[in-house]
Amino acid sequence: MQTKLSQPALLKNQSYINGEWVSATSGKTFPVTNPANGQHLIDVADLGADETTQAVEAANMAQKAWQERTAKERATLLRRWNQLILDNVEDLATLMTLEQGKPFAEAKGEVAYGAAFIDWFADEARRLNGDVIPTFAKDKRVLTIKQPIGVVAAITPWNFPIAMITRKAGPALAAGCTIVLKPSEETPLCALALAELAHQAGIPAGVLNVVVGKDAKAIGGVLTGHPTVRKLSFTGSTPVGKLLLSQCAQTVKRTSMELGGNAPFIVFDDADLDAAVEGAIASKYRNAGQTCVCANRILVQEGVYDAFAEKLAKRVATFKTGEGFSDGVTIGPLINVAAVNKVEELVKEAVDKGANVLIGGSRASSLGTQFFEPTILTGVTEDMAIFSNEIFGPVAPLFKFSTEEEAVAMANNTPFGLASYFYSQNMSRAWRVSEALEYGMVGVNEGLISNEVAPFGGVKESGSGREGSEYGIDEYIEVKYLCMGGL
Ligand code: ADP
Repeated sequence: MQTKLSQPALLKNQSYINGEWVSATSGKTFPVTNPANGQHLIDVADLGADETTQAVEAANMAQKAWQERTAKERATLLRRWNQLILDNVEDLATLMTLEQGKPFAEAKGEVAYGAAFIDWFADEARRLNGDVIPTFAKDKRVLTIKQPIGVVAAITPWNFPIAMITRKAGPALAAGCTIVLKPSEETPLCALALAELAHQAGIPAGVLNVVVGKDAKAIGGVLTGHPTVRKLSFTGSTPVGKLLLSQCAQTVKRTSMELGGNAPFIVFDDADLDAAVEGAIASKYRNAGQTCVCANRILVQEGVYDAFAEKLAKRVATFKTGEGFSDGVTIGPLINVAAVNKVEELVKEAVDKGANVLIGGSRASSLGTQFFEPTILTGVTEDMAIFSNEIFGPVAPLFKFSTEEEAVAMANNTPFGLASYFYSQNMSRAWRVSEALEYGMVGVNEGLISNEVAPFGGVKESGSGREGSEYGIDEYIEVKYLCMGGL
């Protein structure tokens, strides 16, 4: 097993506040474990509300000087950080596979994907142009300038322990904001390694702070309640997002919410079936199905339903489930036992109501307690819980439909609206369906859509705001209007 780091300094067990590594004032720690085998990796300091307040104060102290640097200076530091992340891909991916479980090759992919956000926003820092607006009166001039929103709080999940951080910290720092980040307690090691690399890159004390602790409620309470924090960027579940939104209302913070999804993946009769199978594999089974843009409901038109199911099953049969460092493994463990239980229950409920298991269908018990077999269910219907619940596991439920209208109605029959996908070779259908899907993102003959150049985000209860792209930095700036009179 490949677990040695070439730069041991990247393994941290303290939080990073104001440029220093700190323990909990209570002296408390909590264990980080490997989801593949339950192995204890390290104990990390368990910080709480008091230290979070200190981090917010440190971020506030650092804010002015950081904002006053030129965009070019900030961009130079961000590029240095980006480069250090790329230089340490193997170590970061090792930490990721250890604490999160995803196959090592996928982990390396995430490090590169994560770094790309820093690189992208280093460039965007220099394009925060204001406007000169045609005036409404002869003796006046109307201008806008863009300024950083101030201290940002970010709360991130465990499924992309690096990319979900860089996607927020990149634009925040580029815009001239400082940040206090609370990573998931399941995956603190990647976050702390990123902080160490930011430190090595010369990002000044207080500009990036990482607070790790098990008491998410207490840390979140400070991040959402402290009046100095002007913005919360959250990625996680819809229930927690709603709670944080309500907490932020008290001090009217700006928020970006990247919440749950229930992605439809529609295969029309006129699709290139082989391409659709590959797209479904990429979208469904990446990260063992634990992404908010994973295909959650695969809707297949009746004319190709059986052929698609058969082709998909052939490919899924080649998957290798196991511990992320083993050669050829494509499906790792789920993050915890509760996740496995949930997936098992969804499958059982569907089967009890008449769905068929085409492949998989159970826990992979021989591998340990946290593995679930890559699964395909056929004959799945809208009345089954799997239609309306985010599976977050390697299970592909195949629903059948007859008409385009029915497919679009089924796809939109959810309070969520993050990613959606469809496969069709018909140009007019491609436009029609793209416009009809009530989603923030649509993959048209494409199953992998996340990257730094495009706006990622949802509608409806999947959240608000966009990350990545030219729009991503807008989440961290205020537009100030200047009216110059008496001219
Ligand atoms: P997931 O199902 O992806 O774990 P969560 O929404 O539970 O989604 O977690 C996402 C992030 O939100 C994690 O960092 C977690 O610690 C944090 N979190 C969970 N509950 C709260 C809370 N009440 N206040 C603040 N943060 C929270």
